[in-house]
Amino acid sequence: MNIAIFGAPGSGKGTQSAKLIDEYGLYHISTGELLRDHIKRGTELGRTADEFISKGQLIPDDLMIRILDDVLDSEAAAKNGVVLDGFPRTIAQAEALEELFRKRGTELHAVIGLEVPEEELVDRMIKRGQETGRADDNIDTIKTRLDVYHSQTMPLRDYYLKENKYIPVNGIGIVDEIFDDIAAGLEQATGVRRRAKKR
Ligand code: AMP
Repeated sequence: MNIAIFGAPGSGKGTQSAKLIDEYGLYHISTGELLRDHIKRGTELGRTADEFISKGQLIPDDLMIRILDDVLDSEAAAKNGVVLDGFPRTIAQAEALEELFRKRGTELHAVIGLEVPEEELVDRMIKRGQETGRADDNIDTIKTRLDVYHSQTMPLRDYYLKENKYIPVNGIGIVDEIFDDIAAGLEQATGVRRRAKKR
């Protein structure tokens, strides 16, 4: 099963991805984490990525798609399927993704959309910035990231609704309860059931 977790910055994609990989044995691909790791290591890609990330802008599609193509080649990604966290973020990326999966004989099965009101997103990102020191979680960059989300990423909601792949989930509340809704939505959409609850 290949799924994408979709939502505004601060909507809880990372938190719910961790639960998804644990529950379904999927491989986590977070494009944001991958890029931050390159920045930390000071690679050439990291230097390019930093120019965009620090301004709250998206990395160019062709570069991002090439990176994803490489990651999907890893053995771990091919095994049980993946959780894409932060990709696709543009229609061009979504179209490319279809082709990347198609050439590997698979497809994107579902897109989980974490829906969270804007005020809550800002509060969460400010808090995360204070707790983790994440450089782009500052008020100016947050504003740009939300604008970018509305103009470039939000159209994907309709794109995947039309493809019958979009599963809306209320992203406000207790982490485990949000995950219960995700698991129920996935079962309904794909027939894949979660493991029996541990006691
Ligand atoms: P995230 O951790 O998913 O919030 O991503 C942090 C930053 O990394 C974003 O604000 C973008 O600058 C960059 N980024 C992550 N994923 C993508 C993507 N799919 N396309 C373009 N830029 C991305």
